[in-house]
Amino acid sequence: MRLLIKGGKIAAEEGPLTAGDVLIEDGVITAVGEDLGAPPDTQVIDAEGKIVAPAMFDAHVHFREPGQEYKEDIAHGTEAAINGGVTGVVMMPNTSPAIDSPAVVRSILERARDVSRIPVYTSGCITKDRAGSELSGIDGMRQLGVVMLTDDGDPVANPAVLKNAMEYATPFGMFFASHCEVAELSGPRALNEGKVSYQLGIQGSPACSEEICMDRDIRLAHAAGARIHIQHVSSAIGMETIRWWKQMGAEVTAEVSPHHLMFNEEDIGDYDTHYKMNPPLRTAEDNAALLEGLKEGVFDLIATDHAPHSTFEKEQDFVSAPNGITGLDTALVSLHDRFVTSSEIGWDLIVKRYSAEPRRMMGLEVVPVEESKPAELIVFDPGGETTFSREFMRSKSINTPFLGQTLQGRVELVVRGSEILLQR
Ligand SMILES: [Zn+2]
Repeated sequence: MRLLIKGGKIAAEEGPLTAGDVLIEDGVITAVGEDLGAPPDTQVIDAEGKIVAPAMFDAHVHFREPGQEYKEDIAHGTEAAINGGVTGVVMMPNTSPAIDSPAVVRSILERARDVSRIPVYTSGCITKDRAGSELSGIDGMRQLGVVMLTDDGDPVANPAVLKNAMEYATPFGMFFASHCEVAELSGPRALNEGKVSYQLGIQGSPACSEEICMDRDIRLAHAAGARIHIQHVSSAIGMETIRWWKQMGAEVTAEVSPHHLMFNEEDIGDYDTHYKMNPPLRTAEDNAALLEGLKEGVFDLIATDHAPHSTFEKEQDFVSAPNGITGLDTALVSLHDRFVTSSEIGWDLIVKRYSAEPRRMMGLEVVPVEESKPAELIVFDPGGETTFSREFMRSKSINTPFLGQTLQGRVELVVRGSEILLQR
């Protein structure tokens, strides 16, 4: 396969966009430069006015397999990823059964090999069945390539158990990812404790529930010599906590999700469960602080926390409805629509935080659009539009606030190796 992408502007994690054609031969970028000629038998893509960028990587997705395939499965989840310009994902282990043993890891990876067109990585549980007491089958999972350990969906409540796991797994080169909250403070985990929770008359979950646990987990990791990643940070003080620990020299990375950057508790309006997630949406001030944290590098990566649920489940009353929204189909376009068109952020930041850094965290090679690198890239039309209709979405579920909306920006082409995964 020979592909020439002509006339686009190339995005990289550092520096401005640069004009250049990109020639891909047998899955490798063999030339980058202006006015490249097309050898015979070359498929030419006109990318005039468009962005050519490294493909994205999402380090936080829930594919619900095994056990809840009516919400999502690996086949649909990975297609949703491709639909959004994402060519690699890390699954979370809160499935049923939980991904806490080599047997489950093996079955997941085999399944992914059969049904997925992109690489699928999985994290493994810290504790058996995420129950917070006994350690999971850590060494067996490591032998199958698991590097990230997390009980995501819940924290490890007992700090002694977490410290023990850190001391055990760190010499293997594994690291930890924390979903931070103190269960006793979170109540029914419905929404932020604040103005809107008082208006709606529902017990809220205060930001300090997340911040206390975050500080505790980084402190434990620092003491145990472990590496820790903080998932889906939602508050200004949480962001500052991470900044402070980085200054102290802790080996900590952190992620922010598109929804915590874009939405806040006011969006819940009349009990709209498309704005219900955990950690909950907080305030407009938190949105602004999280965006600053992203620009300043306090957050290493953007990750969606893609969390599909059926329409039936999301149509329950606000307290009963499950937490989470989908993100893979919508993340890149929504980040572009909200923050790139307004010049809040540039493509360099998107590439760094949603492509390069998540790959580095997982110990993978980054995929810059450069000569002699493997082809793993997207063509994105900044002047195009995407309407997030049911038909557009490849996820099994459509629990997203963007359903039915038209946003600016469009993923037009996704290439991985010698395969065109998507072309619009
Ligand atoms: Zn979580």
